[in-house]
Amino acid sequence: MTVLVLGAGVIGVTAAWFLRAAGHEVRVVERREAAALESSFANAGQVSAHLADPWSNPSTLRQLPKWLLQADAPLVWRPRLDLDQWRWLALFLRECSRERYARNLLHLANIGLYSRETLRALRRETGIGYDFHQGGILLFQTDPAAFDQSAAAARRLEAHGLKRRVCSREECVAIEPALAHMKERIAGGIYSPHDETGDAHQFAQALARLGAERGIRFDYGVAVKRLVVEGGEAKGAEVEHADGRREVLRADQTVVCTGPHSARLLAPVGVRVHIYPVKGYSITMPIVDEAKALRIGVTDAAVKVAFSRLGDRIRATSTAEIAGYDASLDKRRGEALVGHVERLFPGAGDTARVTHWAGLRPTTPSNLPYVGKTAVKGLLVNAGHGTVGWTQSCGSGRAIAEILAGKRPEVDFPFVGV
Ligand SMILES: Cc1cc2nc3c(=O)[nH]c(=O)nc-3n(C[C@H](O)[C@H](O)[C@H](O)COP(=O)(O)OP(=O)(O)OC[C@H]3O[C@@H](n4cnc5c(N)ncnc54)[C@H](O)[C@@H]3O)c2cc1C
Repeated sequence: MTVLVLGAGVIGVTAAWFLRAAGHEVRVVERREAAALESSFANAGQVSAHLADPWSNPSTLRQLPKWLLQADAPLVWRPRLDLDQWRWLALFLRECSRERYARNLLHLANIGLYSRETLRALRRETGIGYDFHQGGILLFQTDPAAFDQSAAAARRLEAHGLKRRVCSREECVAIEPALAHMKERIAGGIYSPHDETGDAHQFAQALARLGAERGIRFDYGVAVKRLVVEGGEAKGAEVEHADGRREVLRADQTVVCTGPHSARLLAPVGVRVHIYPVKGYSITMPIVDEAKALRIGVTDAAVKVAFSRLGDRIRATSTAEIAGYDASLDKRRGEALVGHVERLFPGAGDTARVTHWAGLRPTTPSNLPYVGKTAVKGLLVNAGHGTVGWTQSCGSGRAIAEILAGKRPEVDFPFVGV
């Protein structure tokens, strides 16, 4: 079968990989000059199956009025004249109920576990390198009341098979010695020992190279203008080349992996998905003092900043800005992140050599992705992975290949349609 994959972020590249492994003739179309230059470029790097709580939760609902008035709030809403934004926000608020949050959290964890195992199997098979580290992820709290709440939640979740180790401040520092200087300020933490960190951009580019060696065709610098549907069946996509030339690329199956841009591509053919861009920021800096640098993934829950160690670099990310499709940088956000690195790991990174980045998370109200067949024959979607697209990439790619083969994936994706 011929399969056209639209978009070469970490989701499109992994989908192409598993579709090729299933024996299909795969062609990937990407408007940028290489793979993973948009949302997948400089994310937090956390492959987090166990600490992937959706933003739509009861605590967000409680804090929202305060955040709306706070310039540096972790979640910012900039109202736009865009019905999709308002509709998305209403659905997001609905997902904040206790019941929906609990259901979404377990669902995300199951997809995360399946994906992490798939990533590990792929690593064993290919030997792919991407500055990964298997040291777990530690989320720590500085507020004792917030720690008590997250410890109680962790114990409740354990009954559902979600393993989160509740740690005292001493245990937090033993797990991540770089936090020792601020031990007295730590109330406690939640540690997920089997989670990992790694560079999604490096991974996607390396996998694209391996995929090309195995026969996947990658067309870079080619923008998809519209999906082609004839007689109720998807036939491929109309694309525009760098020189302005247009053509229709035909395929038996078309898989939309265009991240935050997927809703706009799908709407004209009658497929409605609630995926909206949620902007985040990151900074990356080289490590200059190994003894002061973090070794594992760390999240400071009070300020919602995630840190990773990626080889000889430190990465820090934060912020959820619901502000439309503008991915421009706000340097103040990046400078605040540099301040957080200095606060947690003083002297570890070179603050004179900081790389700033902003990206749009392709987010659904529940944070659960769309993975599966649409109502249009021959048209599939693999998009909307929100805060955990890197974590879920391999599982989603494997699932798309299984769904195309008429099988139900081992793990239940909410949008399978087989
Ligand atoms: C600040 C931040 C921190 C994050 N931290 C983590 C983390 O720690 N762990 C985690 O698991 N996830 C994290 N994420 C989320 C993760 O990065 C995303 O969910 C994931 O990268 C989405 O991948 P994607 O392939 O769907 O989208 P993208 O990477 O955006 O890929 C979509 C591709 O489609 C292409 N495209 C779009 N429209 C067209 C068109 N018309 N024609 C041709 N090509 C097109 C784009 O150029 C792009 O390359 C974070 C995200 C951000 C922003």
